[in-house]
Amino acid sequence: MNDKRFIEVSFPVKEVSEESAREKNIRHGHISTLHIWWARRPLAASRATSYAALIPAPENVEEWDKKRQFIINLSKWENSLNHSDIAKAKKDILSANGGRPPKVLDPFAGGGSIPLEALRLGCETYAGEYNPVAVLILKCTLEYPQKYGKPKVEKEGWFETKKNPLLEDVKRWGKWVLKEAKMEIGRFYPEDEDGSIPVGYIWARTIPCQNPSCGAEIPLMRQFWLAKKNNKKIALKLFVNNGKVVFEIAKNPDFDPAKGTVKGAIAKCLVCGSTVDANTTRRLFQQGKSGQRMVAVVLHNPRKKGKTYRIATDKDLEAYKEAEKYLEEKRAKLMDEWGIDPVPDEETPEGKGKGAERAFSVRNYGLNTYGDLFNSRQKLALITFTEKVRLSYQKMIEEDYDKEYAKAVVSYLG
Ligand SMILES: [Zn+2]
Repeated sequence: MNDKRFIEVSFPVKEVSEESAREKNIRHGHISTLHIWWARRPLAASRATSYAALIPAPENVEEWDKKRQFIINLSKWENSLNHSDIAKAKKDILSANGGRPPKVLDPFAGGGSIPLEALRLGCETYAGEYNPVAVLILKCTLEYPQKYGKPKVEKEGWFETKKNPLLEDVKRWGKWVLKEAKMEIGRFYPEDEDGSIPVGYIWARTIPCQNPSCGAEIPLMRQFWLAKKNNKKIALKLFVNNGKVVFEIAKNPDFDPAKGTVKGAIAKCLVCGSTVDANTTRRLFQQGKSGQRMVAVVLHNPRKKGKTYRIATDKDLEAYKEAEKYLEEKRAKLMDEWGIDPVPDEETPEGKGKGAERAFSVRNYGLNTYGDLFNSRQKLALITFTEKVRLSYQKMIEEDYDKEYAKAVVSYLG
């Protein structure tokens, strides 16, 4: 029996590649927004290759051309929910497999693109993964929506509306978590007087200049761009004042902001002009002699478009220090309640050996635990959200939610 499949004979590589590249700019409704996964396959390529691997090879040129066109069309993002195209694809696959849905196994399923597309095409799909983060992503992408995401008809008087209970609950509890977190830690992100909200803080790690007659603080910044759009060019400008490096915001800079104070761990002191070699820079970090400095604040005014930038003030630093104090208090409280440190104390990869671990260099800079990768206010935000998500689960149980269902809802929130 000739079991040759379409993909073994031909495949519209160019067209499907173009669709796959285009998909990267799509955010709304795409599984990439659920959780980052580093090598998630494009849905266009996953759908097209799955289909082409499950239908027979064409018997003549006309058939080849027709199927080829259909594959190109099927791979388009806009056709993800196109009933007639998906129904035709399902029918073709079923009839090529004796009327039974074929079994598809993806043993390295990662971000879930291939099993999602195999499901869409009506296959009996199995996904496996070794990485627990990927397993959680797969549950949220494949399992829970099928188990709990079927729309239910709700009657309100004369009106009937279809609602997806899982979607409604994720929205409801997502809002609850945000509200609770804002109430507790919102004060550590104070608004400006004009109502602008901080959306980012720009920090620089620092080391002391090693020239014994200088000793100034060297802010380590690879580059100084804040905004680099055609119609909006803003950068940080550094200058020396009383033996100290100071920053200001420069619109349409008259210098090259791409040139920073550090490259490959070699740092340059702007005060005296001497350099710190890479080994010394790393040693200073490992010995805890490095510091950090809040440089600028990125703001957004809800009544205006775009972002604005200003240099950080003492008041900004005060809010940070308050957060730092509160972190210690909250960390101790949660450690007591949970029996574990809420800030991850697991060690970061050593960055040695021959495997993928070689990619990590954080240990060179004294960042020895995962908690070390975040500053105090970031840690506070992370443990607060973790706590609120855990609390939302308890609330759901108090409201008589099914335990497995509540677990599904919090999986999206976490
Ligand atoms: Zn110096």
